[in-house]
Amino acid sequence: MAAEKFKNERSLIVIKPDGVQRSLIGEIIRRFERIGLKLSAIKMLVPRNEMIEKHYTVDPEWRRITGEKAIKGYKEKGQKPPSEDPYEITGLILERLKKYMSSGPVVAMVWQGAHAVKIVRKLVGGTEPFSSDVGTIRGDFVMDSYEMSDGDERCIRNLVHASGSIEDAEKEISLWFAKEEVIDYRLIPEQIFYDVNLDGLLE
Ligand code: GDP
Ligand code: MG
Repeated sequence: MAAEKFKNERSLIVIKPDGVQRSLIGEIIRRFERIGLKLSAIKMLVPRNEMIEKHYTVDPEWRRITGEKAIKGYKEKGQKPPSEDPYEITGLILERLKKYMSSGPVVAMVWQGAHAVKIVRKLVGGTEPFSSDVGTIRGDFVMDSYEMSDGDERCIRNLVHASGSIEDAEKEISLWFAKEEVIDYRLIPEQIFYDVNLDGLLE
């Protein structure tokens, strides 16, 4: 059954301090619930700096890739990047991320379902809210831009974190949750999403 390969995929979502402060916890959860994803872990906490650094560097290439992406972004807007060294840029981004992410409580969650990682990224939208698509979480609820956040030497406020790949998701889940905090259970509508025959509906 093809569904077996896809239905257990998981993604780690963190509602960042601005999302909690703006009373968007329910709205954000609603978007993942209504598409059919299954919530398998949830908790509120104030993350520590060490944890935030580990979280953003679970992918050993994140420092290079994000630094290069940021440099390209500055140049495309005709701006001079603060450094030509991608590692220096991500060093700066990471310091700002620590300040932002540890400024208040966050809500960490694991959502499971077919193509969870990509489906969640689609619902969340692009990293910079100013250019995220309308209809996405970041596009619908935030006005922030890199121009404004960089100008004020702070992190972009984009409400949520969502895993970027299946591999990152699994690493992030084990960083944020102990094994026993993630609950394996059956959600009845999964039968409608994944069963081949849909038998048992008629009396
Ligand atoms: P995400 O997965 O959509 O959150 O984005 P990334 O994994 O690429 O980056 C993680 C975080 O780094 C983002 O939420 C931003 O805070 C920051 N970041 C990423 N790219 C840039 C950039 O081009 N400029 C700045 N200033 N910050 C960035
Ligand atoms: Mg990311």
